[in-house]
Amino acid sequence: MNHSGTISELRADILIGADGRNSWLAHRLGLTGAAEMQGRSVGFQLRLQVRDVTHGRVEIHLFPGGYAGVVGLGDGTVNLCLAVEKEKLPHQRQIEFLWNSCLPHNPYLKELLRRSLRVGEARSTYPVYFKPRRCFADGVLLVGDAARVSEPVSGEGMYFAMKSGLLAAETVGEAFCSGDFSAAHLSRYERACHRSFQFRRGINSLIRLLVYRPRLLAPLVRFSAKQGRLLDSLVDAICTAEPAR
Ligand SMILES: Cc1cc2nc3c(=O)[nH]c(=O)nc-3n(C[C@H](O)[C@H](O)[C@H](O)COP(=O)(O)OP(=O)(O)OC[C@H]3O[C@@H](n4cnc5c(N)ncnc54)[C@H](O)[C@@H]3O)c2cc1C
Repeated sequence: MNHSGTISELRADILIGADGRNSWLAHRLGLTGAAEMQGRSVGFQLRLQVRDVTHGRVEIHLFPGGYAGVVGLGDGTVNLCLAVEKEKLPHQRQIEFLWNSCLPHNPYLKELLRRSLRVGEARSTYPVYFKPRRCFADGVLLVGDAARVSEPVSGEGMYFAMKSGLLAAETVGEAFCSGDFSAAHLSRYERACHRSFQFRRGINSLIRLLVYRPRLLAPLVRFSAKQGRLLDSLVDAICTAEPAR
């Protein structure tokens, strides 16, 4: 429907769904699974005004049932993003529960909240994670979060979104050359994504397994602190950009 309220029909050889994790297109085409609506966690984002805020680093803190990422934005505020197990959340007053009961289990977060004032609206998102969807159909490709979301702790969503856009562009170019927009032909895009993302997704799955289990993760973090380069190597492996082609 356009701005004047009239419905018009548009036709195209191919449609790219880049409409995010709750992709209307993926739902319309039946490419979403029931399992992803039973996701383990809900994501929240809060903006805090903080005295003596530290800049230039990203911190990950664990608390029972979830984890939080903290990053200073350089204007006296910090971005506090968290993933928390759905079953731990009450049905109402969830932000108050997080602020007063859940996050203060972590001494660092308790101190951060004590020094903070919440600014702006809290935002939430669901599901936080789901397995890659089938990302092609006749005349259709899904890119970015519409096709896959990883556990946000390793922060690769934007990389996956942009890289999958490039891979989709290659597939679309080939489809125009051959004039073949069938699902069978477009399925090469899914294989290209699998090859490109296999390593990062593997690491992400491992981290996802550990991050909700502080008892398993804490000794590993202590070990890696002693080993110096171990954690740095992991971060390099996940975050180092590919050279532009
Ligand atoms: C709280 C939070 C923190 C994050 N932090 C990081 C981070 O630190 N690093 C990182 O790499 N990633 C991060 N991510 C993930 C990252 O934001 C996403 O992976 C990335 O934005 C995906 O890009 P996308 O273009 O696929 O989808 P989106 O950015 O979700 O864009 C989809 C767009 O489609 C539009 N849209 C939806 N439906 C329709 C429709 N029917 N018609 C028209 N338009 C529509 C939406 O309005 C939106 O603009 C974070 C995500 C969240 C929720």
